[in-house]
Amino acid sequence: MSNDDPKPPTPEEISRKLSEFMKSNFGGSVSFNAFPGGASPFASEPADGPEPPAENEPEEPEYSDIYSFNYRPRDIKEHLDRFVIRQDEAKKVLSIAVCDHYNHAKFLRTLAKEDPERAAAVEFTKQNVIIVGPTGVGKTYLVKHIADLIGVPFVKADATKFSETGYVGGDVDDLVRDLVRKADGDVELAEHGIIYIDEIDKLASQGGAMGRDVSGRGVQTTLLKLMEETEVSVRNPMDMQSQMMAMFEMQRGGGRKPQRSTINTRHILFIVSGAFSGLEKHVGKRLRSGTIGFGAESKETLSDQDLFRRSTTQDFIDYGFEAEFIGRLPVRVVCEKLGAPELLEIMRESEGSVLRQYEREFSAYGISARFEDAALEWIAEKAADEGTGARGLLTVCERLLRDFKFELPGTSISELRIDGDLVRDPVATLGIYSEKGREVNTEKVAAEIEVFVREMKERDGVALVFDEAAITSIGVLSVERNMSAMQLCQQLFHDYQFGLKLIQKNTGQKEFAITSEAVRDPDAYISELVVGSYRKGPVVVDGPPAPEDESN
Ligand code: ADP
Repeated sequence: MSNDDPKPPTPEEISRKLSEFMKSNFGGSVSFNAFPGGASPFASEPADGPEPPAENEPEEPEYSDIYSFNYRPRDIKEHLDRFVIRQDEAKKVLSIAVCDHYNHAKFLRTLAKEDPERAAAVEFTKQNVIIVGPTGVGKTYLVKHIADLIGVPFVKADATKFSETGYVGGDVDDLVRDLVRKADGDVELAEHGIIYIDEIDKLASQGGAMGRDVSGRGVQTTLLKLMEETEVSVRNPMDMQSQMMAMFEMQRGGGRKPQRSTINTRHILFIVSGAFSGLEKHVGKRLRSGTIGFGAESKETLSDQDLFRRSTTQDFIDYGFEAEFIGRLPVRVVCEKLGAPELLEIMRESEGSVLRQYEREFSAYGISARFEDAALEWIAEKAADEGTGARGLLTVCERLLRDFKFELPGTSISELRIDGDLVRDPVATLGIYSEKGREVNTEKVAAEIEVFVREMKERDGVALVFDEAAITSIGVLSVERNMSAMQLCQQLFHDYQFGLKLIQKNTGQKEFAITSEAVRDPDAYISELVVGSYRKGPVVVDGPPAPEDESN
């Protein structure tokens, strides 16, 4: 935003302008804001009844679990181990930082109750974190699972977005407002949330494209303010809708407890990350030019990973960060690259494994998909070649299984074995499955019909009884039409419940036979049954003959 731009109006200004507008257009009879100072007539008698007396309000809002935070670093790491494979160092470092952070919040709160002055004077350096690591190795995944476990809102952003908009300040503040949105409007909870910013390395002044230098530094300064402590308005001053809402709240709010209008960022934990490619060169250079112990051999013996681990604040400054900015990120950790063995482990061990996703997707079509070892090894190798970490797994699986997902649903295939043959020659394997899918699988058809019958009975209270010929006909027709037996039944008999209930009313009949004729022409079949039921009149099924019959 340039300095020449007019300042956005406040809710009070909007309110005043709208009042003037109403008066000049509609005279004194119509008012928009006839209660100066916010003393709204609605406040004493709102449309939905009088306000409850102030003492009925709870003294404090319900606090979230953050104040009963009771995790040890080990607990957090154990939780992460279920989802995130390897990255042990990152898991440990993050677990400690998070425990320190939330224990401190808890401590301050207890102290503030006993001795507010002392609480205000307590010094604490926030343990904001830098995670160094390539894409797709679990950086976001780690932070997300931590936030989920401890129950705080979490917002992720990409640092490159800030510099591209040219509207730096507003955007960065939006991160904090997003936390409030994630916390369902609970400002206090949002004040203890986690903000995670990826691609932070793009803000370094050496690294970027033209023009990035200036705005990159600008964003660093703005972020720095957030990381230290600042108040961010709950509403975006440029967002007219939210300003108008604030105005209405203000007008309605007379006797109510005022809503929080700002968010303090003191207890928000910041985690930033990036690949920082080139940082290792700065570290290597420093080590080479440096002191005893790191002679000519250092560059040869240290891997990039090791170099990243040895990075210091000065290396980050040489890389292009402002000293104050990097100083606010005291905790640093490196995430490892993932090779084929790690990707294999992710598929096999992680609770969030992509395999589970594929199994679920196929099972939605009644197909049980089973991954075998040979296929997993092949997928891991191919995914490693992609160079996008664990994201490569999804890319490879998608490419491999796309056609299977398209062709197999609705056929009689109920099991897909993803094995060595399939990955070596997916086209030929799909051909075999498609061929097989055209054969009728009577067992599967019968099972689907059973489900259909059960659902209809529960929903409509009428029971269909398919005879053998009907089951065979459904099987043949479902292959012909490339539909599942379930879908076919739903289509053929979709309005049967009306006719059957009518028959039930006329005759008391509870079960209805479905024959192959019914499958061939369902409309004619049901019409005939309905007409017949009027002829028969009420009967008691399976019971003794009705008294009228006896007298005849
Ligand atoms: P980034 O490091 O770029 O933030 P993400 O954490 O977003 O990568 O990883 C993308 C996806 O890959 C995750 O949602 C997760 O499914 C999977 N993934 C990445 N790394 C791991 C890991 N170490 N263990 C298990 N799954 C992982």
